Amino acid sequence: MSEIRFAVEKIKNSSFLVCFSGAGISAESGIPTFRDEDGLWKKYDPKIFDIVFFKQNPHKCWQYIYEIFYEKYTDFEPNFAHKALAKLEQLGYLKVIITQNIDNLHHKAGSKNVLEFHGTIRELICPRCRSVFNTFEIIKKKKMPPICTNCNNILKPNFVFFGEPIPSDIYSSSFEYTQKSDVMIVVGTSGEVYPAALLPQIVKNNGGTIIEINPKNAAFANEAKDIFIKATAVEAFQEIMKFF
Ligand code: NAD
Repeated sequence: MSEIRFAVEKIKNSSFLVCFSGAGISAESGIPTFRDEDGLWKKYDPKIFDIVFFKQNPHKCWQYIYEIFYEKYTDFEPNFAHKALAKLEQLGYLKVIITQNIDNLHHKAGSKNVLEFHGTIRELICPRCRSVFNTFEIIKKKKMPPICTNCNNILKPNFVFFGEPIPSDIYSSSFEYTQKSDVMIVVGTSGEVYPAALLPQIVKNNGGTIIEINPKNAAFANEAKDIFIKATAVEAFQEIMKFF
């Protein structure tokens, strides 16, 4: 596949390689995406991740949030693609991963410089007093919904719900890194969630190269991508890593 060779060449010659990942990179770890045929939106109503709905119906939301993300919290393992990205960082090629995922799998794979644009399932936060808790410690008690031990308020996962802003520090770091990037690997994202989906376009506008990995044509990157590897994340990285 000539795209693989082009991609490898770009990666090797890059001065500031960034990876922008989405739910698709974790599909082969067993975590459903949002928008595919077996995606979460086919089974659940997206409003359970809407901040206004959550505030009004926290018990109902937690029932589903627990089922989707926390019941199997420790079962999910990074796949070859997550590990390949950790290796590319270790080798000095990859400077940062900006992920839309909240599943902690880039960290679990050993990547060090990871910006979690939409937050993480590792933590729970109290919307009232802003105390932050380790998810695992709270969830193993299996008391739903989880309660803040400081002020008795119902805790919220420390990830961004619809209607909430992106944390300002993560937002500005993501845009700063992207401005520096001359090559961006875009993997497993539909590019339908903004403002995250703006990032590849910035690289493109600055004259950089977009390498997209997706088994399907994702709408947003049609104009932006330079190299399209039409494959799953694991398939693509298995080929790419033969050259490293
Ligand atoms: P999305 O569901 O909108 O799109 C998933 C994309 O991944 C699609 O383009 C699909 O073709 C592609 N894909 C499917 N299987 C793949 C594979 N094996 N390898 C590579 N690509 C594959 O997801 P999104 O673009 O990340 O945006 C939706 C939001 O969903 C994000 O904000 C994210 O926070 C959230 N989300 C996260 C998780 C997670 O943390 N694992 C899971 C579901 C949703």
